[in-house]
Amino acid sequence: MRAMILERAKSPLQAVDIPIPQPQTGQVLLKIQTCGVCRTDLHIVDGELSKPKLPLILGHQIVGTVVETGEQANKFALGSRVGVPWLGYTCNCCRYCNLGKENLCDRALFTGYNLNGGYAEYTVADERFCFNIPEGLTDLQVAPLLCAGLIGYRSYRMIEDAQRIGFYGFGAAAHILIQVANFQQRQVYAFTRAGDLPGQEFARNLGAVWAGSSEELPPEALDAAIIFAPVGKLVPAALKAVDKGGIVVCAGIHMSEIPSFPYEILWGERMIRSVANLTRQDGEEFLALAPQIPIQTEVTAFPLTDANQALTALRNGQIQGSAVLVIE
Ligand SMILES: [Zn+2]
Ligand SMILES: [Zn+2]
Repeated sequence: MRAMILERAKSPLQAVDIPIPQPQTGQVLLKIQTCGVCRTDLHIVDGELSKPKLPLILGHQIVGTVVETGEQANKFALGSRVGVPWLGYTCNCCRYCNLGKENLCDRALFTGYNLNGGYAEYTVADERFCFNIPEGLTDLQVAPLLCAGLIGYRSYRMIEDAQRIGFYGFGAAAHILIQVANFQQRQVYAFTRAGDLPGQEFARNLGAVWAGSSEELPPEALDAAIIFAPVGKLVPAALKAVDKGGIVVCAGIHMSEIPSFPYEILWGERMIRSVANLTRQDGEEFLALAPQIPIQTEVTAFPLTDANQALTALRNGQIQGSAVLVIE
């Protein structure tokens, strides 16, 4: 099969032909249709996340068809359309797993990081961590829901009943979550890089009540903010934008260093928290909600062999919505 391989950090992916993997006990073999490109993939390529499996096939927003099943794999019929997310395995016995916090599992393995992912024609996956994909969404449209959507949704749930919500970074996750916020009649304030007028326009077109630079304060104090961009200086910026009791959620897996800030911007029972990974329950809930809204994703498609170009476009802020690889 054709695959795009990361041989070492800070080097471009290489197009290679390798054997199709064999499904082991409890695994399904998927023929991949699409795979979303995530900022986490960039962090892995850039060496900002320690200890990926190498060589590695990136990609953790996989939409594929079950073409073979391993022993004791009986969750999906042959021909089923399934999604493979970031969470690829948990131990089911550590204290986090026992508390229903499998996203924090001590022995978790992640797709496209510890396990080969979806920048390829085929992949194997543990069927217990694969999702049924709802009808009515194309392979292209549904791919970004599998990370931007459902880890975004976990972040969104952390802001509780906030009505005025700031999104710092208006990319793949924000353009999905604003549709949930609109559906629930909450107001989104979109913050982009200074001067990113197309990004601000994109946010307004999707229903943001205000869009501006992350260096500005919003016209009203916010109830909560979610930081999607991997930029530590946005933490004090968001703290200044939220009202007393406000919640600031850091949604990314990596962030540049957070600069020191005066205690008074945290005072007033403001909170900062991070969100890590997903649970299977997050995925089931979000994939049930998405068709009810219904969520429409804005997608830029790239052929598999243009994965490096897709990553570069994401790095340079040239993608509106999500980048998705299409496997012919
Ligand atoms: Zn991701
Ligand atoms: Zn565990």
